[in-house]
Amino acid sequence: SLSTLYRGRFAPSPTGPLHFGSLVSALASYLDAKKNQGDWLIRIEDVDGTRCKKYFSEQILNTLSSYKLFSDETVIAQSHRSELYEQHLSTLKNQQLVFPCNCTRQFLTQNNGNHPDVCKSTANQLHSWRLKTSNLLYQYEDPIQGSLNFADDLKNNCPVLKRKDGYFSYQLAVVVDDHRQNITHLVRGADLIETTAQQLYLYDLFEWTPPNICHIPLITNTCGEKISKQNHAKPIENGHLLTLLRALHYLNIDLNSPSSISEALSLAIKQWNPNTLYGVKSLPLEPQDQHF
Ligand code: GLU
Repeated sequence: SLSTLYRGRFAPSPTGPLHFGSLVSALASYLDAKKNQGDWLIRIEDVDGTRCKKYFSEQILNTLSSYKLFSDETVIAQSHRSELYEQHLSTLKNQQLVFPCNCTRQFLTQNNGNHPDVCKSTANQLHSWRLKTSNLLYQYEDPIQGSLNFADDLKNNCPVLKRKDGYFSYQLAVVVDDHRQNITHLVRGADLIETTAQQLYLYDLFEWTPPNICHIPLITNTCGEKISKQNHAKPIENGHLLTLLRALHYLNIDLNSPSSISEALSLAIKQWNPNTLYGVKSLPLEPQDQHF
């Protein structure tokens, strides 16, 4: 509702089923919203049509429902919003804040991220659109991670906003959608810290107020890597109370044998306190959870 001062969201990319780490993120954003009497929205971030599958979107939504995590508003999918992203890209084009680019990743690595003049004159071949950046320094107070300094995040690091193959990038879509949906608070995994400076820069260019952004610890496997689809994290079981309790444990919530998922959630809302995670950037899976 319009009177709500807190609007949070969980924004999964459907490149695979929901895994344990994403359940922890979903829970953190949900608990923070509900603790603050806010709305909690689910948004499907399927801009990357080459990696996202409708099948996974459905599976993720089913899994979230099985844990009684329901969106307070209709779930939107980014794959239906290209026109909106195109309009915002045009705004940036009109202000000469983006440039067409054909550079390969390998070329940019060898060239310290510097674009040759020629890449800016490729407008009539297939090309991507990149955001011009400068040496802006962003500093930002993260309620969990503390003071974050994005010293060289933008220097020679011009994010792609629209890809050569025509798909928009996560960076543009996430900023446009969070703004359009009036999201006031982001609670997400610490792996996304590295995307924050670019997002804050886009908020500045559009002259929008950024949401409050907070990064919860990343759950890592025995090799210290994020548990993710890339390293074969397994899908979690649907509606499994013990899995929920183990996920809550990584948010410093330990419940004394609740009888149902609904009961666990309402107790967890009361116990959720992001300050208990202050300064924690990652948490290794405990031995009993290594099957996740
Ligand atoms: N869609 C992104 C992901 O699955 C998350 C976006 C965000 O929370 O900002 O990694």
